[in-house]
Amino acid sequence: MALIVHKYGGTSMGSPERIRNVAKRVAKWARAGHQMVVVPSAMSGETNRLLGLAKEVNPGLLDDAAMRELDMIAATGEQVSVGLLALALQAEGMAAVSYAGWQVPVRTDSSYTKARIASIDDQRVRADLSAGKVVVITGFQGIDEAGSITTLGRGGSDTSAVAVAAAMGAAECLIYTDVDGVYTTDPRVVPEARRMNTISFEEMLEMASLGSKVLQIRSVEFAGKYRVPLRVLSSFTPWDIDIDEEAKSGTLITFEEDEKMEQAVISGIAFNRDEAKFTVVGVPDKPGIAYQILGAVADANIDVDVIVQNVSHDGRTDFSFTVHRNDFQRVNDLLANTIVPNTGAAMFTADPRICKVSIVGIGMKSHAGVASTMFRTLSEEGINIQMITTSEIKTSVVLDEKYMELAVRALHRAFGLDAPVTQV
Ligand code: ASP
Ligand code: MG
Repeated sequence: MALIVHKYGGTSMGSPERIRNVAKRVAKWARAGHQMVVVPSAMSGETNRLLGLAKEVNPGLLDDAAMRELDMIAATGEQVSVGLLALALQAEGMAAVSYAGWQVPVRTDSSYTKARIASIDDQRVRADLSAGKVVVITGFQGIDEAGSITTLGRGGSDTSAVAVAAAMGAAECLIYTDVDGVYTTDPRVVPEARRMNTISFEEMLEMASLGSKVLQIRSVEFAGKYRVPLRVLSSFTPWDIDIDEEAKSGTLITFEEDEKMEQAVISGIAFNRDEAKFTVVGVPDKPGIAYQILGAVADANIDVDVIVQNVSHDGRTDFSFTVHRNDFQRVNDLLANTIVPNTGAAMFTADPRICKVSIVGIGMKSHAGVASTMFRTLSEEGINIQMITTSEIKTSVVLDEKYMELAVRALHRAFGLDAPVTQV
């Protein structure tokens, strides 16, 4: 018997019938003797619908006051989910109770629409578990010091689940989703992609931050920090499959590098098409310039991804960076109205249609020539690289968006990640 956290995504919660299926699966685990905490997302499409309504009544939606109301609205999707799931569990004959984030409480900072969890009080939940109840807690949301409802960013229910598992010292956090694990790359782009039985935590962190949508990046950070055993698995297996088989399915995120069975140099190819690139041209090259440019962007609470500063000529340099495409207009305005005038730069250019493609693998630490294989593969496809960044276990390139799928396929093949062809 162990304390187990299950997380179910929007698709798994997508209809009353699916919710009943989730309830049956959870009930199976509870009847096997486990203490169960379940963290569901909103029903699929619901968060988009809610945010769409918000946009209809106030298309601007930029300041903090508006962001607070967005969270107020978006958080209701998960509140409906937990109530429905608790009811469905009761219909299965289980004692079950649901809580919104503020009732637990899940405390966060006040960065509306991308709040960070500060602490989780598990007293109430523990008492319910001891009383034999299944506890259902909203994903995605919390409460800040002022008592306002916050949300953790799109896909944030993963983080909620892992944070609950960390706070309660759960034996494992199982993330049930509409794919059956973590793949070498997105199978919709490369049909030959393979599911991994295990992936190291470091690789998963890179894959998540580089655009693999399987897990929200913060959930992986949390899992790493608190060493929460995390597994990604399918919610579309029959609910009554053998529990031992289910417990071993999907992809386990491991903490021990040498536990890793699949010793490829590169484990996966991640990509992200939601980026935009800006270049500040002809900035006077003097101390503080990076801070003047990126400080202004950071102050607007916009995350910068890839940064490149060129060598300077005649005391001037070019400075390029990428941001999420959603922030394109805000950064464009900031550059035009503030940064370019303040820094004395000549001008800036903006490209909303770029993508980032990355190769990831802890094997890169000990193998030379991995990046050059990447560059050769791209050059053979005639793809121009605009920016390059590397870390110990990944190399990323920024490309014109139109080359994304071609690049991903070519790299997947070049690094031997395609599944072996089976004769039929
Ligand atoms: N419902 C939220 C979203 O769609 C959170 C989640 O599903 O994880 O982003
Ligand atoms: Mg998700």
